[in-house]
Amino acid sequence: MSTTKKRVAVIGLGTAGSMSAWRLAARGAEVVGYEQFGIAHDRSAHAGESRIFRTAYFEDPEYVPLLRTAKSLWRELEGETGTELLALRGNLMLGDSSSQMGNVSDSIDKFGVDASVIPIEEARHRWPHHPFHEGDVVVLDREAGYLRPELAVLQAAARAQSLGAQLRTYTPVEGIEAKDDGVWVTAAGHSERYDHVVVTTGPWAAKLLPELAGLVDVRKAVSAWFVAKERGAFDPANFPCFIRTAPEEYYGLPAMDGNGLKLGLSGTVNRPVPDPDALDRTVPIDEVQAFRELVAQSFPALYPDPVRVAAYMEGYTPDGHGIVGPLGGGERLTVVTGLSGHGFKLAPALGEIAADYVLNGSSHNTIPLLSPERFLAVPTSSTNQHH
Ligand SMILES: Cc1cc2nc3c(=O)[nH]c(=O)nc-3n(C[C@H](O)[C@H](O)[C@H](O)COP(=O)(O)OP(=O)(O)OC[C@H]3O[C@@H](n4cnc5c(N)ncnc54)[C@H](O)[C@@H]3O)c2cc1C
Repeated sequence: MSTTKKRVAVIGLGTAGSMSAWRLAARGAEVVGYEQFGIAHDRSAHAGESRIFRTAYFEDPEYVPLLRTAKSLWRELEGETGTELLALRGNLMLGDSSSQMGNVSDSIDKFGVDASVIPIEEARHRWPHHPFHEGDVVVLDREAGYLRPELAVLQAAARAQSLGAQLRTYTPVEGIEAKDDGVWVTAAGHSERYDHVVVTTGPWAAKLLPELAGLVDVRKAVSAWFVAKERGAFDPANFPCFIRTAPEEYYGLPAMDGNGLKLGLSGTVNRPVPDPDALDRTVPIDEVQAFRELVAQSFPALYPDPVRVAAYMEGYTPDGHGIVGPLGGGERLTVVTGLSGHGFKLAPALGEIAADYVLNGSSHNTIPLLSPERFLAVPTSSTNQHH
């Protein structure tokens, strides 16, 4: 058996990249990571203080085993770094009896997710500052809560480094080229050979891999933070995260300072970003007004003017599921991208899948919903150029 380590480049050390670097280094690969900015920078898709983790999954129950793999890897990363990253304080799924709530109940029925329907009167009593409508279906998912994304990315990258990974920050990759002897990565005018390359460039995916243009639609996503009129009204210890799918679409999390909420509107209002290098990070007043109206109508316990607004980016695929797996290059190119607004919680499991493909050529952790083949023929020719 060969004892030579596989030499692997991970391009883009954000959400999927930091986790891929960690899992690959933990499983014995020689890892070199490239990041165009610093680790956990604020232009990434993971910026903005918090992300929801949930298991009663309205996107598709097929995700539940993957979510459980992700949860155990989050716990592993916490244990290895001595940092709390995932607080399981619950998530409320709110909607009517539409098909998406059907996916939530299927997740519970098929996989025994620890979640249950809460009668409206009980919900009003338990969370008096939350708006509940007549006809709402309220599901409390107890295998849910929030993650600290910047901290998580920093810790995964640091852990990868302590396992031997070399991370090159402020080093944008300019091109990837698969040849007979390996995959060549060019950065700062210099090319290096690798056995395998993992591309985790998030909203920038189509810049390096032009075949993803039209498959990863980059959109601007705005978050807004609101302060509670009464201190403690939205204390993260007893106020769960929430996602409402009907009649309006919005989501929220307790603010991490414990004194208010962070809110986001449905992805359908997110404006297109023609060039991720030129994201306009200002939030126009009509977008602020949309939040203001929501809060004035639905959350009277908050001051209606946001104290902070921020614009981020995310890449969305046509069917709302990520693209995770081999992408040609003589089977030496793996991609994790297009995470479509719900990829953070899954990130360590996606890193594990990337490591499976690199080290074993296949993955028993992945799910068909994420297969690149649903969009792209996956060539196995040994010459394939990407710039
Ligand atoms: C506002 C908002 C709220 C969200 N809420 C949730 C939530 O509650 N729960 C959830 O699970 N998910 C949520 N998501 C989705 C989740 O955050 C994303 O799916 C995830 O962060 C995407 O990760 P990524 O690795 O694809 O991109 P990123 O984290 O952005 O990483 C890509 C990295 O690649 C680097 N890069 C790009 N090009 C190059 C290059 N040529 N060379 C070197 N480096 C390069 C970038 O600088 C960046 O660091 C949310 C997303 C947004 C925007």
